[in-house]
Amino acid sequence: MGRITLENVQKSFGDVEVIPPLDLTIEDGEFVVFVGPSGCGKSTLLRLIAGLEDVSGGEIRIDGKPATDLPPAKRGLAMVFQSYALYPHMSVRKNIAFPMKMAKVPEDEQKRRIESAAHALNLTDYLDRRPGQLSGGQRQRVAIGRAIVREPAAFLFDEPLSNLDAALRVGMRLEISELHTRLATTMVYVTHDQVEAMTMADKIVVLRAGHIEQVGSPLELYRSPRNLFVAGFIGSPK
Ligand code: ADP
Ligand code: MG
Repeated sequence: MGRITLENVQKSFGDVEVIPPLDLTIEDGEFVVFVGPSGCGKSTLLRLIAGLEDVSGGEIRIDGKPATDLPPAKRGLAMVFQSYALYPHMSVRKNIAFPMKMAKVPEDEQKRRIESAAHALNLTDYLDRRPGQLSGGQRQRVAIGRAIVREPAAFLFDEPLSNLDAALRVGMRLEISELHTRLATTMVYVTHDQVEAMTMADKIVVLRAGHIEQVGSPLELYRSPRNLFVAGFIGSPK
């Protein structure tokens, strides 16, 4: 389960409204990409869903249940941070185990989930290393592993590949898409990269100055961009 709905969700910082009231539905199992230029509110929207920011108005529901006032840990979602958010002094195994330790998951269950995540992410041979002894791509996989073991209803990614080099980015894109296919779990993915959006998304949400310009599949947006902003962003010939 991982259906997320935003109803009239609005966010201001002080007097500045960065997200005017918006409605959005993310279906269970969907890979949804928020795309738009720097500063348009992608991270803020993701953080509102995660509960890392409080909404200024409106309602967020997760699987139909009101989640607006729930703290992040109670929403059943996992945010994947960039790989530099790993604990450098802990082994890969301990990094991955950390959220389960916090949630007091029994030890044998922790072990099972670590092994399963390590297998899914090709990290089995690296569990006893520290993040500093891994490549950038492996570190990013550990960050994803730390989210997987929480068995979330949805994964929330905020530009997870932006500090990897171009070649590695292409490989990680494929890995995340494969992971989505395998887990069939909702993924909400923020990027300012059109190619990532077009190649990974089931549904793209194009944001501009905090409002939604258009929502649709990559093909729909490419064929029928609503305006020049969307056309320019998606790279369609209109
Ligand atoms: P994006 O992720 O698309 O680059 P953000 O969501 O980070 O955009 O930012 C959207 C707007 O909200 C920007 O104008 C940014 O300066 C502003 N903003 C974000 N977080 C805060 C904050 N904590 N306090 C004040 N303004 C913020
Ligand atoms: Mg951002």
